[in-house]
Amino acid sequence: MAGAASTDPRLDLDFVAPWFFGPAAENAAFVEELLVEFLRDHAAWRRAFHPEDRLASREELFADPAFLAARTKMRRELLRLSSALQQAVPFFHPRYVGHMTGDLLLPGIVAKLLTTLYNPNNVSEEGAPVTTELELEVGDDLARMLGFSVVDGQEPCGWGHLTSGGTVANYEALWNLRSAKFFGVALQSAAALTQLDPLIGGESRPLSNYSVWELVNLPVDDMISLRRDVLAWVTTRADPLLGHAFAEAVRRERIESLGTAAFFSQHRPLQPPQVVVPASAHYSWAKGMKVLGLGTANLLRIPVDHRMRMVVSALEEQLARLSEQQVPVLCVVGMLGTTEFGAIDPIHEIVALRGRFREQGLDFGIHVDGAWGGYLASIFRRPDGSRHSREEVRDGLAYFPSQSVYEAFAAVPAADSVTIDPHKLGYVPYAAGAIVVRNREVVDFLTQDAAYVFDRDDAIGQPPRRRQLANLGQYILEGSKPGAAAAAVHVTHRSLPLDSGGLGRILKLTIRISEMFLDSVAAARERLADRVRLCVPFEPDTNLICLAVNPVGNTSVAAANDFGRAVFARLKADGAAALAGREFIGSYTSLTHESMPAAEAARILAALNLDPATFVPVATDRRVLADHLFILRHTLMNPWFLAGNEGDFYLDKYWRHLEEVIDAVLLGRNQADRRTQM
Ligand SMILES: *Cc1c(COP(=O)(O)O)cnc(C)c1O
Repeated sequence: MAGAASTDPRLDLDFVAPWFFGPAAENAAFVEELLVEFLRDHAAWRRAFHPEDRLASREELFADPAFLAARTKMRRELLRLSSALQQAVPFFHPRYVGHMTGDLLLPGIVAKLLTTLYNPNNVSEEGAPVTTELELEVGDDLARMLGFSVVDGQEPCGWGHLTSGGTVANYEALWNLRSAKFFGVALQSAAALTQLDPLIGGESRPLSNYSVWELVNLPVDDMISLRRDVLAWVTTRADPLLGHAFAEAVRRERIESLGTAAFFSQHRPLQPPQVVVPASAHYSWAKGMKVLGLGTANLLRIPVDHRMRMVVSALEEQLARLSEQQVPVLCVVGMLGTTEFGAIDPIHEIVALRGRFREQGLDFGIHVDGAWGGYLASIFRRPDGSRHSREEVRDGLAYFPSQSVYEAFAAVPAADSVTIDPHKLGYVPYAAGAIVVRNREVVDFLTQDAAYVFDRDDAIGQPPRRRQLANLGQYILEGSKPGAAAAAVHVTHRSLPLDSGGLGRILKLTIRISEMFLDSVAAARERLADRVRLCVPFEPDTNLICLAVNPVGNTSVAAANDFGRAVFARLKADGAAALAGREFIGSYTSLTHESMPAAEAARILAALNLDPATFVPVATDRRVLADHLFILRHTLMNPWFLAGNEGDFYLDKYWRHLEEVIDAVLLGRNQADRRTQM
């Protein structure tokens, strides 16, 4: 029963039906029942806390005019809000195929609303005795789904926690990796300053014997052991006062303490590290370089291929150059589902490449940005935790997963950390992103509690690691944070486990929808051949599909973009337009001249019959936007896209609508042309 997909994908809508609120609010009565039930529980909980205090308001107060006026005021403001919200974007509906958001799973909605009443703050166990534990369990769920080991007491043991979103998870990955990468150098400086020379690795090698280049190229796990070896040596060999002075010196010498500029000027000729991402990376990577002071000049972009995946041979060339010039590489980021195209980078090849560079003395972290695609790992996971074969995953599908995509997912456990967004393909309310880290021991490099940084033995006088982690604020970028988010994700994971029989079954359905969409393009292309050229610029790896359009006869990129924008204007969710009147709501993206390899640009322009000479590197005239290609983008995450009857599924409706829009735009243009000719 592997995969559990029925031959008619629409039958799986029956599986989906109980879990979502439903596009026509099908489950509203059930939600109401749940909310009332839990609201009562909450009220009872309040009343049960020191009932002897007799705090209850006097009966008469409820009839007091001022009291009633206050209520009227609140109601009026809430009514105002509720009516304003009617202008919100209907993410829940299958006619919404725009951004990375869809209908919400019921357990998450109810858990979030219910937990908000208790207002737990997951910054520490003190403010959230219940929900911090739920957050750590959510981290375990995600780690297991991705293939990391999470056995307490067995190293490496993964851990994960929630963030406000993928953006902050990406920042945190950089922060984690930097804290480990430059720790060895700080240790060595501190040892020199205090005239200590600890012996490392079974007392075999003095710390002073390491070169700076060697220290910045220790894999994370080795840096963890190095820290332990030094700690053990210092606590047994040095007197306590000297040990304390050494610990203080380590803190002072760290990059986090000196700041980037002072650290690198002190360790000349050591250079600031590079962060290597594909050209398709999310813009949060550039933001992260700014936030951490690493500098966007040190963000190195690797070109992508005809499937929008990182070109690993180009990565290899860059790494060889950096290795030769002795420029440290903080990390290589692979995308597990790009934001624009859903492309899956060959994580397995990045991992293999790291193995080869390690041998040459260049090491780097690997971070997987799976904000979008991370949850797709549930399709590959059997309920018993083992991994499905590619054939099993493929059962009921036509193309997914390609060999490369299958191997990419299988290689994720070799990465150091992963970003994954429950508020995207986990279908839970905002704000819920997450980071999962392969080896939780890295938190020793991060802690804000000075006592833990270096000078206390982990084994003595400290709670077990798991208890420490419950004080989340010590180890993460954020401070106060909603326990309600942890509750929402937790209940969702318990209700729909992260395997092929649970959430994976829903996600597999979205992949089938995307395959059906892709298959339907050929027929649409024929139908519209006398009016426009259609092209899917990059064959999708997952459940995002993009379409480029160009009117027949046009060869100019700028004119094609004008046309694309005019089409999109009728598929757009802008506050001003009455959303209710929209047939479908989509999104768009642009392929910039700058980010596209010439061969790919040539291929796509040819498919659209556009003249490559009209595609320019810089738009000189603001009105002639020819430095990019405008593209319609479809996020196909709503299972109800399959709802309907033969010949009238949403897929059919969408194509009919797109055809109408194209005709209307063409008609408008022809009329305008005639007017100018008159
Ligand atoms: C959405 C996304 C992000 C950012 O996540 P937010 O939750 O919007 O902060 C980062 N990377 C990728 C690949 C994404 O798709």
